[in-house]
Amino acid sequence: MKNEKSLKIYEEAVKYIPGGVNSPVRAFKSVGLDPIFIDRAHGSRIYDVDGNEYIDYICSWGPLMLGHSPKEIVQGIEEVVAKGTSYGVPTEIEVDMAKIIVEAYPAIDQVRMVNSGTEATMSALRVARAYTNRNKILKFEGCYHGHSDALLVKSGSGTITYGVPTSPGVPDDVVKDTLVCRYNDLDAVREIFKNQGHEIAAIIVETVAGNMGVVSGTQEFLQLLRDITKEYNTVLIFDEVITGFRLNYSSSIGYFGIKPDMVCFGKIIGAGLPVGAYGGTKEIMSMVSPVGPVYQAGTLSGNPLAMYMGKKNLEILRDNPQIYLELEEKAKRLEAGLRNNIEKLGLNYTINRAGSLVCLFFAKGPINNYDDVTKCDVDKFNKYFKELINKGILLAPTQFEAMFLSNAHKNEDIDYTINASYEALKAAHN
Ligand code: PLP
Repeated sequence: MKNEKSLKIYEEAVKYIPGGVNSPVRAFKSVGLDPIFIDRAHGSRIYDVDGNEYIDYICSWGPLMLGHSPKEIVQGIEEVVAKGTSYGVPTEIEVDMAKIIVEAYPAIDQVRMVNSGTEATMSALRVARAYTNRNKILKFEGCYHGHSDALLVKSGSGTITYGVPTSPGVPDDVVKDTLVCRYNDLDAVREIFKNQGHEIAAIIVETVAGNMGVVSGTQEFLQLLRDITKEYNTVLIFDEVITGFRLNYSSSIGYFGIKPDMVCFGKIIGAGLPVGAYGGTKEIMSMVSPVGPVYQAGTLSGNPLAMYMGKKNLEILRDNPQIYLELEEKAKRLEAGLRNNIEKLGLNYTINRAGSLVCLFFAKGPINNYDDVTKCDVDKFNKYFKELINKGILLAPTQFEAMFLSNAHKNEDIDYTINASYEALKAAHN
Protein backbone atom coordinates (compact mmCIF):
# COMPACT_ATOMS: atom_id res chain seq x y z
CA MET A 1 0.00 0.00 0.00
CA LYS A 2 1.47 3.33 -1.07
CA ASN A 3 1.36 6.05 1.53
CA GLU A 4 3.93 8.70 0.53
CA LYS A 5 1.38 11.46 0.03
CA SER A 6 -0.49 10.70 3.23
CA LEU A 7 2.79 10.69 5.13
CA LYS A 8 3.79 14.01 3.70
CA ILE A 9 0.49 15.62 4.67
CA TYR A 10 0.72 14.02 8.09
CA GLU A 11 4.16 15.55 8.67
CA GLU A 12 2.62 18.97 8.05
CA ALA A 13 -0.54 18.14 9.96
CA VAL A 14 1.21 17.35 13.23
CA LYS A 15 2.82 20.79 13.19
CA TYR A 16 -0.51 22.58 13.24
CA ILE A 17 -3.11 20.17 14.62
CA PRO A 18 -2.72 18.10 17.82
CA GLY A 19 -1.76 14.63 16.61
CA GLY A 20 -2.42 15.83 13.08
CA VAL A 21 -6.13 15.05 13.36
CA ASN A 22 -9.35 16.73 14.40
CA SER A 23 -10.73 13.71 16.27
CA PRO A 24 -8.43 11.26 18.09
CA VAL A 25 -9.40 7.91 16.56
CA ARG A 26 -8.54 9.23 13.10
CA ALA A 27 -4.85 9.11 14.05
CA PHE A 28 -4.69 5.28 13.61
CA LYS A 29 -2.25 5.40 16.52
CA SER A 30 -4.03 2.59 18.33
CA VAL A 31 -3.32 0.19 15.46
CA GLY A 32 0.27 1.36 15.18
CA LEU A 33 -0.13 3.10 11.82
CA ASP A 34 -0.04 6.64 10.56
CA PRO A 35 -3.33 8.12 9.38
CA ILE A 36 -4.40 7.95 5.78
CA PHE A 37 -5.63 11.21 4.28
CA ILE A 38 -8.73 10.98 2.13
CA ASP A 39 -9.19 12.44 -1.29
CA ARG A 40 -12.78 11.43 -2.09
CA ALA A 41 -15.42 8.77 -1.62
CA HIS A 42 -18.34 7.37 -3.49
CA GLY A 43 -20.87 4.68 -2.60
CA SER A 44 -19.16 2.03 -0.49
CA ARG A 45 -15.69 3.13 -1.59
CA ILE A 46 -13.25 5.62 -0.18
CA TYR A 47 -10.01 6.73 -1.87
CA ASP A 48 -6.94 8.16 -0.17
CA VAL A 49 -4.56 10.76 -1.57
CA ASP A 50 -2.14 8.01 -2.68
CA GLY A 51 -4.84 6.52 -4.87
CA ASN A 52 -5.58 3.50 -2.64
CA GLU A 53 -9.17 2.34 -2.80
CA TYR A 54 -10.96 0.80 0.18
CA ILE A 55 -14.34 -0.71 0.92
CA ASP A 56 -15.33 1.63 3.70
CA TYR A 57 -16.79 0.33 6.97
CA ILE A 58 -16.14 3.56 8.87
CA CYS A 59 -18.62 5.45 6.71
CA SER A 60 -17.99 8.66 8.70
CA TRP A 61 -18.84 6.71 11.90
CA GLY A 62 -22.46 6.24 11.02
CA PRO A 63 -24.19 9.07 9.16
CA LEU A 64 -24.03 7.52 5.69
CA MET A 65 -26.91 5.04 5.51
CA LEU A 66 -26.90 5.31 1.72
CA GLY A 67 -23.13 5.39 1.34
CA HIS A 68 -20.92 8.28 0.28
CA SER A 69 -22.35 11.21 -1.68
CA PRO A 70 -25.50 9.53 -2.99
CA LYS A 71 -26.78 11.45 -6.00
CA GLU A 72 -30.34 11.54 -4.73
CA ILE A 73 -29.20 13.39 -1.60
CA VAL A 74 -26.46 15.69 -2.82
CA GLN A 75 -28.09 16.90 -5.99
CA GLY A 76 -29.51 20.37 -5.56
CA ILE A 77 -27.10 21.35 -2.80
CA GLU A 78 -25.42 23.92 -5.10
CA GLU A 79 -28.73 25.75 -5.39
CA VAL A 80 -29.06 25.81 -1.62
CA VAL A 81 -25.54 27.25 -1.30
CA ALA A 82 -26.24 29.81 -3.97
CA LYS A 83 -29.21 31.08 -1.96
CA GLY A 84 -27.11 31.51 1.20
CA THR A 85 -25.25 29.29 3.65
CA SER A 86 -26.57 30.54 6.98
CA TYR A 87 -29.05 33.22 7.98
CA GLY A 88 -29.38 33.24 11.74
CA VAL A 89 -33.11 33.70 11.31
CA PRO A 90 -35.60 30.86 10.81
CA THR A 91 -36.22 28.96 7.59
CA GLU A 92 -39.13 26.75 6.57
CA ILE A 93 -36.91 23.72 6.06
CA GLU A 94 -36.21 23.65 9.81
CA VAL A 95 -39.92 23.18 10.38
CA ASP A 96 -40.08 20.41 7.75
CA MET A 97 -37.14 18.70 9.41
CA ALA A 98 -38.63 18.92 12.90
CA LYS A 99 -41.92 17.53 11.59
CA ILE A 100 -40.22 14.56 9.91
CA ILE A 101 -38.31 13.69 13.08
CA VAL A 102 -41.31 14.07 15.38
CA GLU A 103 -43.50 11.99 13.06
CA ALA A 104 -40.87 9.26 12.94
CA TYR A 105 -40.39 9.09 16.69
CA PRO A 106 -43.70 8.61 18.51
CA ALA A 107 -42.28 9.40 21.97
CA ILE A 108 -41.66 13.08 21.27
CA ASP A 109 -43.72 16.14 20.41
CA GLN A 110 -40.97 18.65 19.78
CA VAL A 111 -37.35 18.72 18.72
CA ARG A 112 -34.55 21.30 18.79
CA MET A 113 -31.77 21.15 16.20
CA VAL A 114 -28.14 21.53 17.28
CA ASN A 115 -24.80 20.93 15.54
CA SER A 116 -23.49 17.65 16.93
CA GLY A 117 -24.35 14.65 19.04
CA THR A 118 -22.33 16.12 21.88
CA GLU A 119 -24.48 19.22 21.93
CA ALA A 120 -27.63 17.12 21.78
CA THR A 121 -26.82 15.00 24.83
CA MET A 122 -25.41 17.91 26.81
CA SER A 123 -28.53 19.99 26.15
CA ALA A 124 -30.96 17.13 26.82
CA LEU A 125 -29.39 16.60 30.22
CA ARG A 126 -29.62 20.29 31.06
CA VAL A 127 -33.33 20.22 30.21
CA ALA A 128 -33.94 17.00 32.17
CA ARG A 129 -32.18 18.44 35.21
CA ALA A 130 -34.22 21.62 35.08
CA TYR A 131 -37.45 19.69 34.48
CA THR A 132 -36.95 17.40 37.48
CA ASN A 133 -35.16 19.96 39.63
CA ARG A 134 -32.55 17.28 40.38
CA ASN A 135 -28.84 17.12 39.65
CA LYS A 136 -27.79 13.49 39.43
CA ILE A 137 -27.68 11.58 36.19
CA LEU A 138 -27.04 7.92 35.50
CA LYS A 139 -25.01 6.64 32.57
CA PHE A 140 -23.50 3.27 31.74
CA GLU A 141 -19.92 2.10 31.50
CA GLY A 142 -18.70 1.96 27.91
CA CYS A 143 -21.48 4.20 26.57
CA TYR A 144 -20.20 7.32 24.87
CA HIS A 145 -22.41 10.38 24.72
CA GLY A 146 -20.00 12.90 23.26
CA HIS A 147 -17.32 14.86 25.00
CA SER A 148 -19.16 17.28 27.26
CA ASP A 149 -17.62 17.32 30.73
CA ALA A 150 -20.40 15.69 32.72
CA LEU A 151 -20.63 12.76 30.32
CA LEU A 152 -16.96 12.03 29.86
CA VAL A 153 -16.97 9.47 32.62
CA LYS A 154 -16.22 5.80 31.96
CA SER A 155 -17.18 6.33 28.35
CA GLY A 156 -16.50 4.40 25.19
CA SER A 157 -15.27 5.07 21.65
CA GLY A 158 -11.87 6.77 21.41
CA THR A 159 -11.70 7.06 25.17
CA ILE A 160 -11.41 3.27 25.56
CA THR A 161 -9.10 3.07 22.58
CA TYR A 162 -6.71 5.52 24.19
CA GLY A 163 -7.22 4.24 27.73
CA VAL A 164 -8.68 7.45 29.16
CA PRO A 165 -12.33 6.59 29.77
CA THR A 166 -12.47 9.46 32.26
CA SER A 167 -10.68 12.49 30.94
CA PRO A 168 -8.23 14.71 32.81
CA GLY A 169 -9.37 18.31 32.65
CA VAL A 170 -12.84 17.40 33.84
CA PRO A 171 -13.11 18.72 37.41
CA ASP A 172 -14.31 16.25 40.04
CA ASP A 173 -17.01 18.71 40.95
CA VAL A 174 -18.48 18.57 37.46
CA VAL A 175 -18.78 14.78 37.48
CA LYS A 176 -19.76 14.26 41.09
CA ASP A 177 -23.39 13.97 40.00
CA THR A 178 -22.66 11.53 37.19
CA LEU A 179 -23.46 8.04 38.47
CA VAL A 180 -22.26 5.07 36.49
CA CYS A 181 -23.59 1.50 36.36
CA ARG A 182 -22.53 -1.54 34.43
CA TYR A 183 -24.38 -1.87 31.12
CA ASN A 184 -27.05 -4.59 31.09
CA ASP A 185 -26.74 -4.99 34.87
CA LEU A 186 -30.30 -4.94 36.22
CA ASP A 187 -29.34 -5.37 39.87
CA ALA A 188 -26.90 -2.46 39.75
CA VAL A 189 -29.64 -0.19 38.41
CA ARG A 190 -32.13 -1.36 41.06
CA GLU A 191 -29.57 -0.83 43.79
CA ILE A 192 -28.63 2.68 42.69
CA PHE A 193 -32.29 3.69 42.44
CA LYS A 194 -33.06 2.19 45.85
CA ASN A 195 -30.45 4.47 47.38
CA GLN A 196 -30.58 7.61 45.25
CA GLY A 197 -33.55 7.26 42.88
CA HIS A 198 -35.31 10.40 44.08
CA GLU A 199 -32.24 12.48 43.30
CA ILE A 200 -31.68 11.18 39.75
CA ALA A 201 -32.80 13.60 37.05
CA ALA A 202 -32.14 11.35 34.07
CA ILE A 203 -30.85 8.07 32.79
CA ILE A 204 -29.02 8.42 29.49
CA VAL A 205 -28.35 5.24 27.57
CA GLU A 206 -27.36 3.93 24.17
CA THR A 207 -29.99 1.24 23.52
CA VAL A 208 -27.34 -0.52 21.47
CA ALA A 209 -23.95 0.54 22.74
CA GLY A 210 -22.05 1.34 19.57
CA ASN A 211 -19.00 2.79 21.25
CA MET A 212 -17.66 -0.40 22.80
CA GLY A 213 -17.99 -2.45 19.66
CA VAL A 214 -21.62 -3.46 19.33
CA VAL A 215 -23.33 -4.44 22.56
CA SER A 216 -27.08 -4.49 22.54
CA GLY A 217 -29.06 -3.58 25.61
CA THR A 218 -31.19 -6.59 26.53
CA GLN A 219 -34.95 -6.22 26.37
CA GLU A 220 -35.17 -6.76 30.15
CA PHE A 221 -32.53 -4.12 30.81
CA LEU A 222 -34.18 -1.46 28.66
CA GLN A 223 -37.61 -2.32 30.06
CA LEU A 224 -36.25 -1.97 33.59
CA LEU A 225 -34.89 1.46 32.71
CA ARG A 226 -38.33 2.43 31.42
CA ASP A 227 -40.15 1.08 34.46
CA ILE A 228 -37.80 2.42 37.10
CA THR A 229 -37.63 5.91 35.61
CA LYS A 230 -41.46 6.03 35.60
CA GLU A 231 -41.54 4.94 39.20
CA TYR A 232 -39.06 7.62 40.32
CA ASN A 233 -40.14 10.41 37.94
CA THR A 234 -36.72 10.32 36.33
CA VAL A 235 -36.37 11.28 32.67
CA LEU A 236 -35.34 8.42 30.39
CA ILE A 237 -33.13 9.65 27.55
CA PHE A 238 -32.25 7.39 24.66
CA ASP A 239 -29.03 8.52 23.02
CA GLU A 240 -29.82 7.51 19.45
CA VAL A 241 -26.94 9.36 17.85
CA ILE A 242 -25.82 6.05 16.31
CA THR A 243 -29.01 3.99 16.45
CA GLY A 244 -31.40 6.73 15.31
CA PHE A 245 -32.86 5.94 11.87
CA ARG A 246 -30.36 3.07 11.61
CA LEU A 247 -31.90 0.21 13.56
CA ASN A 248 -35.21 1.05 12.05
CA TYR A 249 -37.01 4.12 10.70
CA SER A 250 -38.57 4.56 14.14
CA SER A 251 -35.17 3.88 15.70
CA SER A 252 -35.14 2.12 19.09
CA ILE A 253 -38.87 2.53 19.52
CA GLY A 254 -39.44 0.28 16.53
CA TYR A 255 -36.57 -2.04 17.40
CA PHE A 256 -37.24 -2.59 21.11
CA GLY A 257 -40.82 -1.38 21.46
CA ILE A 258 -39.87 0.95 24.32
CA LYS A 259 -40.45 4.69 24.37
CA PRO A 260 -38.15 7.11 26.22
CA ASP A 261 -39.12 10.58 27.48
CA MET A 262 -36.36 12.29 25.53
CA VAL A 263 -34.14 11.38 22.60
CA CYS A 264 -30.87 12.59 21.10
CA PHE A 265 -30.03 12.27 17.43
CA GLY A 266 -27.02 13.09 15.26
CA LYS A 267 -25.20 11.46 12.35
CA ILE A 268 -27.93 10.11 9.99
CA ILE A 269 -30.18 13.14 10.43
CA GLY A 270 -27.45 15.23 8.80
CA ALA A 271 -26.36 12.70 6.13
CA GLY A 272 -22.73 13.72 6.68
CA LEU A 273 -23.17 17.39 7.51
CA PRO A 274 -22.71 18.60 11.10
CA VAL A 275 -25.99 18.09 12.91
CA GLY A 276 -27.60 16.94 16.12
CA ALA A 277 -31.04 17.18 17.69
CA TYR A 278 -32.75 16.54 20.98
CA GLY A 279 -36.42 16.10 21.54
CA GLY A 280 -39.00 15.21 24.14
CA THR A 281 -42.60 15.48 25.15
CA LYS A 282 -44.20 18.92 24.89
CA GLU A 283 -44.14 19.25 28.66
CA ILE A 284 -40.40 18.61 28.86
CA MET A 285 -39.49 20.68 25.80
CA SER A 286 -41.50 23.61 27.20
CA MET A 287 -38.56 24.07 29.54
CA VAL A 288 -36.40 25.19 26.60
CA SER A 289 -35.79 28.88 25.90
CA PRO A 290 -37.53 30.98 24.61
CA VAL A 291 -40.62 29.17 25.94
CA GLY A 292 -39.02 28.14 29.21
CA PRO A 293 -36.02 29.13 31.30
CA VAL A 294 -33.42 26.59 30.08
CA TYR A 295 -30.93 28.35 27.85
CA GLN A 296 -29.63 26.55 24.79
CA ALA A 297 -28.68 28.20 21.51
CA GLY A 298 -26.50 27.91 18.40
CA THR A 299 -25.27 30.28 15.70
CA LEU A 300 -25.41 27.55 13.06
CA SER A 301 -28.23 25.41 14.49
CA GLY A 302 -30.71 24.41 11.79
CA ASN A 303 -28.17 25.30 9.13
CA PRO A 304 -29.83 25.25 5.69
CA LEU A 305 -27.25 22.94 4.07
CA ALA A 306 -27.44 20.43 6.90
CA MET A 307 -31.25 20.60 6.89
CA TYR A 308 -31.34 20.07 3.13
CA MET A 309 -29.17 16.95 3.23
CA GLY A 310 -30.69 15.58 6.42
CA LYS A 311 -34.24 16.06 5.26
CA LYS A 312 -33.58 14.28 1.99
CA ASN A 313 -31.87 11.43 3.78
CA LEU A 314 -34.79 10.97 6.15
CA GLU A 315 -37.37 11.26 3.38
CA ILE A 316 -35.63 8.54 1.39
CA LEU A 317 -35.46 6.27 4.44
CA ARG A 318 -39.11 6.99 5.28
CA ASP A 319 -40.40 6.38 1.76
CA ASN A 320 -38.31 3.28 1.01
CA PRO A 321 -38.74 0.83 3.87
CA GLN A 322 -37.07 -1.86 1.78
CA ILE A 323 -33.74 -0.11 2.47
CA TYR A 324 -33.91 -1.44 6.03
CA LEU A 325 -34.77 -4.94 4.81
CA GLU A 326 -31.91 -4.89 2.30
CA LEU A 327 -29.46 -3.63 4.90
CA GLU A 328 -30.57 -6.31 7.33
CA GLU A 329 -29.91 -8.98 4.69
CA LYS A 330 -26.47 -7.57 3.91
CA ALA A 331 -25.56 -7.34 7.57
CA LYS A 332 -26.74 -10.93 8.11
CA ARG A 333 -24.61 -12.04 5.18
CA LEU A 334 -21.57 -10.32 6.67
CA GLU A 335 -22.27 -11.74 10.11
CA ALA A 336 -22.68 -15.29 8.76
CA GLY A 337 -19.50 -15.04 6.70
CA LEU A 338 -17.43 -13.74 9.60
CA ARG A 339 -18.88 -16.41 11.89
CA ASN A 340 -18.01 -19.08 9.39
CA ASN A 341 -14.44 -17.71 9.20
CA ILE A 342 -13.85 -17.88 12.93
CA GLU A 343 -15.34 -21.35 13.09
CA LYS A 344 -13.15 -22.59 10.23
CA LEU A 345 -10.09 -21.17 11.94
CA GLY A 346 -11.11 -22.55 15.34
CA LEU A 347 -11.05 -19.10 16.94
CA ASN A 348 -13.13 -18.58 20.03
CA TYR A 349 -14.26 -15.09 19.07
CA THR A 350 -17.61 -13.37 19.17
CA ILE A 351 -19.74 -11.53 16.65
CA ASN A 352 -22.39 -9.11 17.86
CA ARG A 353 -24.81 -7.53 15.46
CA ALA A 354 -27.72 -5.15 15.77
CA GLY A 355 -29.25 -4.28 12.41
CA SER A 356 -26.51 -2.89 10.20
CA LEU A 357 -24.01 -2.53 13.06
CA VAL A 358 -21.60 -5.46 13.22
CA CYS A 359 -18.62 -6.17 15.43
CA LEU A 360 -16.13 -9.01 15.52
CA PHE A 361 -14.77 -9.12 19.06
CA PHE A 362 -11.44 -10.82 19.54
CA ALA A 363 -12.68 -12.47 22.72
CA LYS A 364 -14.90 -15.31 23.82
CA GLY A 365 -18.53 -14.35 24.36
CA PRO A 366 -21.02 -13.55 25.49
CA ILE A 367 -20.11 -9.86 25.33
CA ASN A 368 -22.69 -7.86 27.23
CA ASN A 369 -20.82 -5.05 28.94
CA TYR A 370 -17.63 -3.04 29.18
CA ASP A 371 -15.80 -5.67 31.29
CA ASP A 372 -16.47 -8.28 28.61
CA VAL A 373 -15.28 -5.94 25.88
CA THR A 374 -11.99 -5.18 27.58
CA LYS A 375 -11.08 -8.90 27.45
CA CYS A 376 -10.47 -8.57 23.70
CA ASP A 377 -7.07 -9.40 22.29
CA VAL A 378 -6.29 -5.93 20.97
CA ASP A 379 -2.85 -6.91 19.61
CA LYS A 380 -4.43 -9.55 17.40
CA PHE A 381 -7.11 -7.08 16.30
CA ASN A 382 -4.42 -4.57 15.35
CA LYS A 383 -2.64 -7.18 13.21
CA TYR A 384 -5.95 -8.07 11.61
CA PHE A 385 -6.66 -4.40 10.91
CA LYS A 386 -3.29 -3.99 9.15
CA GLU A 387 -3.85 -7.09 7.03
CA LEU A 388 -7.27 -5.82 6.01
CA ILE A 389 -6.23 -2.30 5.12
CA ASN A 390 -3.60 -3.82 2.83
CA LYS A 391 -6.35 -5.81 1.17
CA GLY A 392 -8.42 -2.66 0.56
CA ILE A 393 -10.78 -2.83 3.51
CA LEU A 394 -11.09 0.07 5.89
CA LEU A 395 -12.35 -0.78 9.36
CA ALA A 396 -12.51 1.68 12.22
CA PRO A 397 -8.94 1.63 13.54
CA THR A 398 -9.96 0.20 16.90
CA GLN A 399 -11.49 -2.96 18.29
CA PHE A 400 -14.07 -0.85 20.12
CA GLU A 401 -16.17 0.38 17.22
CA ALA A 402 -18.79 -1.06 14.94
CA MET A 403 -18.55 -1.88 11.27
CA PHE A 404 -21.06 0.54 9.75
CA LEU A 405 -22.82 -0.91 6.74
CA SER A 406 -24.52 1.32 4.23
CA ASN A 407 -26.99 0.41 1.56
CA ALA A 408 -24.32 1.26 -0.99
CA HIS A 409 -22.40 -1.85 0.12
CA LYS A 410 -23.10 -4.52 -2.42
CA ASN A 411 -23.13 -8.25 -1.85
CA GLU A 412 -19.87 -8.43 -3.81
CA ASP A 413 -18.29 -5.97 -1.36
CA ILE A 414 -19.43 -8.11 1.51
CA ASP A 415 -18.24 -11.36 -0.04
CA TYR A 416 -14.86 -9.80 -0.79
CA THR A 417 -14.73 -8.60 2.83
CA ILE A 418 -15.53 -12.06 4.17
CA ASN A 419 -12.79 -13.69 2.09
CA ALA A 420 -10.26 -11.00 2.96
CA SER A 421 -11.22 -11.27 6.61
CA TYR A 422 -10.51 -15.01 6.56
CA GLU A 423 -7.02 -14.42 5.16
CA ALA A 424 -6.41 -11.53 7.57
CA LEU A 425 -7.50 -13.56 10.59
CA LYS A 426 -5.25 -16.42 9.51
CA ALA A 427 -2.29 -14.09 9.05
CA ALA A 428 -2.93 -12.35 12.38
CA HIS A 429 -2.70 -15.70 14.19
CA ASN A 430 0.47 -16.98 12.53
N1 PLP B 1 -23.68 9.84 21.32
C1 PLP B 1 -23.29 8.73 20.69
C2 PLP B 1 -24.02 7.44 20.94
C3 PLP B 1 -22.23 8.77 19.79
O1 PLP B 1 -21.84 7.66 19.17
C4 PLP B 1 -21.58 10.00 19.57
C5 PLP B 1 -20.44 10.07 18.63
O2 PLP B 1 -19.94 9.13 18.12
C6 PLP B 1 -22.03 11.12 20.24
C7 PLP B 1 -23.08 11.02 21.12
C8 PLP B 1 -21.37 12.44 20.01
O3 PLP B 1 -21.68 12.89 18.74
P1 PLP B 1 -20.72 13.95 17.99
O4 PLP B 1 -19.46 13.24 17.68
O5 PLP B 1 -21.52 14.35 16.79
O6 PLP B 1 -20.53 15.08 18.94
